[in-house]
Amino acid sequence: MEMNSKVLILYTGGTIGMVKDLKTGRLVSFDFNHLYTHIPELERLPITLESISLEKPIDSSEINRSHWQNIGRIVLENYHEFDGFVILHGSDTMAFTASVLSFMVQGLNKPIILTGSQLPIGTIRTDGKENLITAIEIAGAKDAQGISVVQEVAVYFEYSLLRGNRSSKISANQFDAFASPNYPKLAVAGVNIEFQNDRLFRSAKDTIQFSPELSDQLSLIKLFPGMNFNAYSSIFKLENNRLIILETFGSGNASSDVTFRKLITQFIAEGGIVLNVTQCSSGSVQQGKYETSSFFEAAGVISGKDLTTEAAVTKSMHLLGVYSSQETVKKFLKEDLVGEMTV
Ligand code: ASP
Repeated sequence: MEMNSKVLILYTGGTIGMVKDLKTGRLVSFDFNHLYTHIPELERLPITLESISLEKPIDSSEINRSHWQNIGRIVLENYHEFDGFVILHGSDTMAFTASVLSFMVQGLNKPIILTGSQLPIGTIRTDGKENLITAIEIAGAKDAQGISVVQEVAVYFEYSLLRGNRSSKISANQFDAFASPNYPKLAVAGVNIEFQNDRLFRSAKDTIQFSPELSDQLSLIKLFPGMNFNAYSSIFKLENNRLIILETFGSGNASSDVTFRKLITQFIAEGGIVLNVTQCSSGSVQQGKYETSSFFEAAGVISGKDLTTEAAVTKSMHLLGVYSSQETVKKFLKEDLVGEMTV
C-alpha cells in the first residue's frame, strides 16, 4: 500500500453510521467529522481521509434515482483529488447502488468501494469497524507503480470484496450478508488482503465518463406458479413503460399461459423490450433450452443471461435514460458493458 493514498468517505446513511447516544440509549447518526474519535484505529492507516455526508442521510430503502445521481456527481467532482472512494451505505439496497454506479460512472481507474454493516459502529459486536477499515485499505491500495489495484465499483462486506454489479444481499441478519454467485470474489481479507488480479475489471475507456440520466420507464415482474396474468395487463401498456424485466424460473422458463404470451407478443410488437432474468441466485438464462422458454426466443425476448436482478434493473434504467432508441437499448442489453454479465 502506498503511504500517500487519499481516500474520500461518503456517508449516505444506514446502520453503519450509527452510535448509541449515551444519555438516551437511542441509536443516532454519528458526526463523520469525529471519525477518528469513534474509530481511533484509522489514525494508524497510512491513508489520508476526508469525509462528507449526504445532506440528509437515509435508510437505504429510501434511495432513489436522484440520490444515485447525487452520489455519482460527488464522486465525479472529487475524482481527481482522491485515490479512491468509500461509500457508506445501508446494506438493504447496496447491491442496487453498486450496480447503478458501475453503469453511470464508466472508465474508472480508481476504486469506488461500498460498505455498510449489520450492527452500528457504536455497538460492541459491530461488524462496521472491520468493514470500514478494510474498505478504506482497499480504496487506498496501489501497486508498486502507484496504480490503483481496484479500478471498479465493488462491495466490501465481511472479509469479501465482490464486484458491485454481481453482488446481492442474501441475508437479513448474518454478518456474511452479500454474495456474488456468478462471479468469483475479487479479494478476500485475512491476515493480508489477497487480491485476485486476474478477476479485476479494467475498462477499455481511457477517460472517466459520467452518464447521470436514469429512466424509470421500466417494470419488474416476478413470476409464480398459478399467477393471474390479467392482473398484470396494465403493465404491458407501452405508455411510460418501455421495458419489462421478467424474473422467470430456472434457466429462463415460464408458463405457456395464452394471456401471458399474448401480452408479451403485443408489447414487443408495439416496440416494448422484454428482458428475461432468472429467479435463481446462480446460473444463467438459456432461452430455448426447454420448450417453456423457446417461446421467449421466438417472441424476441432478450436473455439477461446471468445478470442479477439488481444489475438488470439498473442497467435498464441507465440505458433507457441515455438512449431514446429502443434498438440501441436492446443492442447494449445484449452486451457486457462493465463486467456485469457473462457473454
Ligand atoms: N435498513 C438499513 C439500510 O439499509 C439496514 C442497514 O443499514 O444495513 O439502510
